[in-house]
Amino acid sequence: MSILVVGTVAFDAIETPFGKTDQVVGGSALHFSRSASYFHKPVYLVSVVGDDFPKGVIDDLGRRGVDTTGLQVKAGQKSFFWSGKYRTDLNSRDTLDTQLNVLEHFEPYLPPALRKPDYLMLGNLVPALQKQVLDQLAHKPRLVVMDTMNLWLDIARADVLTNLKLVDLVVLNDEEARQLSGEYSLVKAAQAIRRMGPDRVVIKKGEHGALLFHKDDIFFAPALPLEEVFDPTGAGDCFAGGFVGYLASSRDVSFENMKSALIYGSAMASFCVEQFGSERLLSLTGKDIRSRVKQFLELIQIDIELG
Ligand code: AMP
Repeated sequence: MSILVVGTVAFDAIETPFGKTDQVVGGSALHFSRSASYFHKPVYLVSVVGDDFPKGVIDDLGRRGVDTTGLQVKAGQKSFFWSGKYRTDLNSRDTLDTQLNVLEHFEPYLPPALRKPDYLMLGNLVPALQKQVLDQLAHKPRLVVMDTMNLWLDIARADVLTNLKLVDLVVLNDEEARQLSGEYSLVKAAQAIRRMGPDRVVIKKGEHGALLFHKDDIFFAPALPLEEVFDPTGAGDCFAGGFVGYLASSRDVSFENMKSALIYGSAMASFCVEQFGSERLLSLTGKDIRSRVKQFLELIQIDIELG
């Protein structure tokens, strides 16, 4: 089994009602691989950074079982930079600044050894670049999962639609699902998105959990009611990392197993929101993850005798 992720590796500046940081490392591929590596190693990461990106962070990924052979480091260039500010409810955020920098001329290149992944995560990235990765594959992976964001739906919708025809599962938040489909009801939105290509759709609803859609089947995983949510940045990518990582470790992409994967993804997202970026994921143990999953199971367990 192998997992390949393509996405951003970045510097973020984040402001939440609880704190502010001018610089924390982030990016969709970084958050995803930190999360997925708890379930399956290696995670192959394809992305680009400038030579301003801390080598210590890349070395740390290596120690976690993330293979960074496909991470291009461009001399004399600056890494991708994103800055965002959360509103008081933490479910909505405004992008304050996006500086593509090294991403502007990025051409994702899959070394021959990375062209046959079993699981491919197209993390949030310029849709045309996600497509370039799909074009380099030597065979069809067991599962291709794609993420995107409102920015790309605004400025590159046609490219997003092209990619949707080529992937098995798309992960979106509720706002993005509504924007993509033009439907307010998330059930109708998921049906409309499935008609655009992917067989399965996951819609994340922040503190209100996540929904998995496949044909007429729907499964719902709640989010853990946490006492303190500090910073939601990266939660979606950590969710995807837990989801795909669990599927790869259990070698089973059935709808039934995806229900479990949804819980593991939600557990990883619940850790992510406890600190800036995905910093909380640097110090987890297998025991932490198991006891968090147990909390989820207790949350949804109910015995009802139907008379
Ligand atoms: P999430 O909170 O899961 O949506 O992911 C947040 C991460 O997405 C941050 O660490 C950013 O660096 C990254 N990001 C923000 N804007 C973009 C963009 N336009 N393309 C790719 N990644 C982005």
